Amino acid sequence: MSDGYDFIVVGGGIAGVSAGYFLAPHGRLLLLERESALAYHTTGRSAAIYTQAYGNAAVRALTVAGHDFFTTPPEGFSDHALLGPRGALFIGRDDQREALDRAEAEGRQFVDTVRRVDVAEACAILPVLRPDYVAGAVLEPDAMDIDVHALHQGFVRGIRARGGTIRTEAAVLALGRDGADWSVETPGGACTAPVVINAAGAWCDELAAMAGLDPVGLVPKRRTAVVFDAPPGLDIDAWPLTIDVDEEFYFKPEAGKVMGSPADETPMPPCDVQPEELEIAIAIDRIQTATTMTVDRVSHHWAGLRSFVADKTPVVGFDPAAPGFFWLAGQGGYGIQTAPALGRLTADLARGGDVPAEIGDFGVTAADLSPARAGLRKS
Ligand SMILES: Cc1cc2nc3c(=O)[nH]c(=O)nc-3n(C[C@H](O)[C@H](O)[C@H](O)COP(=O)(O)OP(=O)(O)OC[C@H]3O[C@@H](n4cnc5c(N)ncnc54)[C@H](O)[C@@H]3O)c2cc1C
Repeated sequence: MSDGYDFIVVGGGIAGVSAGYFLAPHGRLLLLERESALAYHTTGRSAAIYTQAYGNAAVRALTVAGHDFFTTPPEGFSDHALLGPRGALFIGRDDQREALDRAEAEGRQFVDTVRRVDVAEACAILPVLRPDYVAGAVLEPDAMDIDVHALHQGFVRGIRARGGTIRTEAAVLALGRDGADWSVETPGGACTAPVVINAAGAWCDELAAMAGLDPVGLVPKRRTAVVFDAPPGLDIDAWPLTIDVDEEFYFKPEAGKVMGSPADETPMPPCDVQPEELEIAIAIDRIQTATTMTVDRVSHHWAGLRSFVADKTPVVGFDPAAPGFFWLAGQGGYGIQTAPALGRLTADLARGGDVPAEIGDFGVTAADLSPARAGLRKS
């Protein structure tokens, strides 16, 4: 005897819960998560930044399209503000002036407050920056910190309030067609639905393989994070996210300490990824080279997988080879900030609709995100 639903979402990270939230009013919804805790993988390991000047054009458009949800979420969604002030300072050396030009032009596409700052202003904003290291910077004053926990929990509560079911320790072990439905095997038994949403993060290609489908060429890439003590005597709370304009490293204040990353992108199979000593050392070296900070002790470190396809644009839409198999994959390093737009988009496309105007107005098309688009590697 199998359990019947209208939608089965696989994955309880930010992608799965955002899609589930927007789909739940439209039918019986089941969300399946393999781990005992939701958000255990990439979603719980992010840098929690919202920046409209980061990523390619499609990513920036999706980020901007989700802005209103972050600032004015539906009544009762969260007791806390989802965004808090941060700012982002994209810094460049003399040999990175062209990259600064590009960052300024791309950043200004959607955000007219993005502007170039000279060395003196950059050092005034971030007093630990070495004036002999930096040749200039691009400031995005309206970049924000995201309360990822509040966002994720708002979606989770919303799914339940809308009658959806969430099961943890419910790994999808197999899936295949059963008449007009997909039959999904879990340790607790089988369940069926005409539509399956593949929001399995780094495992999205593996889930597709279970369904007998070609991969989209998803490559999970490790990214390392370290946390260390702030320089004594400095109030760092107002520091922006400071990021090398070619994304060679970044750092930001985090609960009174400094969180930094070497911005590594090491390809690896999907797994419960752990940090490597070498990447921790690279992060510290690059941050110490650009600033007057010395890192004596790393208090905490972790790593997570950012999963990309070849063009670094998310993959959203029905698989052309299998009715009802819907991809929500490849969010890379932008899956939190794009979640409100991608969740809404998924709910509309998965019900046979088109890109909603509030997202399409920013130039996002279904074709740009489709798993059938050119350039995705199929084996
Ligand atoms: C260091 C770091 C910094 C980042 N910084 C930012 C940032 O500042 N801003 C931003 O927007 N993004 C950032 N990101 C990216 C962001 O975290 C990801 O894009 C996002 O979390 C991806 O969410 P997801 O739901 O697709 O994946 P996940 O959170 O990994 O969720 C996928 C889930 O699917 C489950 N699953 C897989 N296979 C199965 C199966 N067979 N059955 C059941 N469940 C299954 C997994 O257990 C997992 O819980 C960062 C990432 C890292 C690693």
